[in-house]
Amino acid sequence: VEGHMMSDPLLISSIIQYADRYHPDTEIVSRRVEGDMHRYTYRDCHKRARKMANALAALGIRPGERIGTLAWNGYRHLELYYAISGSGSVMHTINPRLHADQITYIINHAEDQYLFFDISFLSLVESVAPQCKGVKGFVMMCGRERMPTATALPNLHCYEALLEQHDDDYAWPVLNETAASSLCYTSGTTGNPKGALYSHRSTLLHSYATVQPNAFGLSSREVVMPVVPMFHVNAWGLPYSAPMAGAKLVLPGPLVDGNSLFELIEEEGVTFSAGVPTVWLGVLDHADKAGKHFTAFKRIVIGGSACPPALMKGYRERYGVEVIHAWGMTEMSPVGAVCSLHPRHAALGTEEQQQLREKQGQAVFGIKMKVAGDLGEELPWDGKTRGNLLVKGPWVIGSYFKGEGGEALQNGWFPTGDVVTIDKDGYMQITDRSKDVIKSGGEWIGSIDLENIAMAHPAVHQAACIGVYHPKWDERPLLVVEKRPGAELDKQSLLGFYEGKVARWWLPDDVVFVDALPIGATGKVLKSEIRKQFKDFKLS
Ligand code: ADP
Repeated sequence: VEGHMMSDPLLISSIIQYADRYHPDTEIVSRRVEGDMHRYTYRDCHKRARKMANALAALGIRPGERIGTLAWNGYRHLELYYAISGSGSVMHTINPRLHADQITYIINHAEDQYLFFDISFLSLVESVAPQCKGVKGFVMMCGRERMPTATALPNLHCYEALLEQHDDDYAWPVLNETAASSLCYTSGTTGNPKGALYSHRSTLLHSYATVQPNAFGLSSREVVMPVVPMFHVNAWGLPYSAPMAGAKLVLPGPLVDGNSLFELIEEEGVTFSAGVPTVWLGVLDHADKAGKHFTAFKRIVIGGSACPPALMKGYRERYGVEVIHAWGMTEMSPVGAVCSLHPRHAALGTEEQQQLREKQGQAVFGIKMKVAGDLGEELPWDGKTRGNLLVKGPWVIGSYFKGEGGEALQNGWFPTGDVVTIDKDGYMQITDRSKDVIKSGGEWIGSIDLENIAMAHPAVHQAACIGVYHPKWDERPLLVVEKRPGAELDKQSLLGFYEGKVARWWLPDDVVFVDALPIGATGKVLKSEIRKQFKDFKLS
């Protein structure tokens, strides 16, 4: 027997309609690429998104077609999130920090029909355009006064001029909820980038899941600042979940250095933010150096790579800001797990609580997890047995865009490529990415553990641990370290710092100091690049 309830489709347009209807005056504040601040409300955003939907139709863009964006976190980008997906086309966010060849590949693979871009990306777009013959036209996201007087770009439009030409009389179409809404490519550190094509349904369910109290805990009482870029897995869904919750949004634009973010947090009363560890290291350093304090700032979700414990402690102990560890992937829309503590953990000592917070957390409702051995056998949830993490759920990828990039699933489960343990309470902890695993004499050495210890040393800014060739043990750990500016540190004292913290045979065989660790397009330390650099490193 079928249930007798309506089967209204879950659509992205309903989010902005809801925010307009119930939180019309709630603000969206953006630091613009132009340099100034811009403020308006959900009602204004909805109105301009409707105008843009009319403009898209007038440009001849049809449902299902992909529209590329190269833009920072800002209000025009947000309008496009709703105008493009809401009208039935596919919002394809492109990471401008990728290499130009990769950007070209992605635009052509996606068959983007139009490209929208922030003024800061004009020369980038001009350089890739000749290789992207399928793109019919370009839209620069600015007012008329900022438009270039001369450009080689064919069919270049001005965003504000397009809006002026169209009215806001637009009815969002009732689409099929399984229709494609947005497209995001993995960073492709190995091989070509692969496309994850999200649907309206997967996006809405991901939003419902992430606003929950045990996940991001969003509500109209929060002021939400996504630092994670809107071109990186939809800023972890915050452009959808914040309006769904009626939260004020603060969009930091291109300035994500410690000083700029600190200022914005204070000026706009930000209570909640999210981003990768490197960004939050910068904010903490700034606050420490300037001797400043946060006023309203309460919580930061940190994910994308393992959050160093020293960073978590720094925020909590010195500033009363709680760092919440979260885990996800492009292929998972991206959130899969969030580390929330429950009332029963209140009785734990500070150190035990800290150890729990260092785990990536429990699956959010909707995501199923299992740990498997190399032969696919299921492993126990005992907090000790390491294995490959597999996931399943309504916002997990089923197959890559155009079927290119290999089989996404194994027996209906998505293999994440992460090596983890899960404890009896379901708290998952990443011990390594399978590509980063260090095997010494056949035995595993935890690179994340070794990095976390180094980063707890006051003279260390960032550290990465890789395996390098060893004639007897196959591989041994090499620690690559970026010191804090002006800090004194030598190999012996850093190795001494490991004393009593890990088994002796885990100790890195050598330490190299570098000026800066390579950072990838999504703000994470690029271990693949470090491995390349130290491929022929001879251990002494
Ligand atoms: P890419 O794989 O190109 O880096 P993603 O942004 O999708 O693109 O990265 C997903 C991967 O990032 C995960 O598989 C995992 O290895 C890593 N990751 C994400 N969150 C965390 C976290 N909290 N701790 C450790 N690793 C994480």
